Amino acid sequence: MRALIVEDDPALAADLVAAFREAGFAVDGAADGEEAAHMGATAAYDVAILDIGLPGRDGVAVLSAWRAAGAALPVLALTARDAWADKARAFRAGADDYVTKPFFMPEVILRARSLIRRAAGHASAGIVAGALAHDPELGVFTLDAAPLRLTAFEARVLGYMIHHAGRVLSRTEISEHVYEDGVDRDFGSLEVVIRRLRGKIGAHRIETLRGRGYRLLAL
Ligand code: CA
Repeated sequence: MRALIVEDDPALAADLVAAFREAGFAVDGAADGEEAAHMGATAAYDVAILDIGLPGRDGVAVLSAWRAAGAALPVLALTARDAWADKARAFRAGADDYVTKPFFMPEVILRARSLIRRAAGHASAGIVAGALAHDPELGVFTLDAAPLRLTAFEARVLGYMIHHAGRVLSRTEISEHVYEDGVDRDFGSLEVVIRRLRGKIGAHRIETLRGRGYRLLAL
């Protein structure tokens, strides 16, 4: 999963980026509204954490720009305590949830994961695809209830695939959701990860559709 963090306070932005990376996300950061408006409208993010109090083009204007550009990504707004007007404006502009500052970092990550899960159409906290299950909160994957040992990158790829099990995912789509901005998106290394995942979860669970991509099957 890939997250966009928009926060102009450098220390808080660094904390958010570090915490989301630690939680397994590919993370891009933006410190001003112009940059954020462009990134959220043009790149593929699974969630955005958006500070409403940005200098210049504020978070609500950024969010309005995303929605006007057709970007449907889930958005968790960061607002000042008691700033009811900001919260109302954020929701009207298309925010999905908010937390007030100062916040407890695990809560931000919990809410972000919940938004991602709901956006992918999963109502329960755990995501199941046949014998394969994933608990996003704990970051755990199991096969027939036995924990799988995955590298961070394998977990990121499988996490995206299990959220979208049954759907054909092109290599481009998967790449967009597992690599950070500025990282060379190498289909070769993605193929290597898919091969390793097949070895760990059973080759028959990841179907290759020639010229179209991969599909995780709920078997
Ligand atoms: Ca701010």
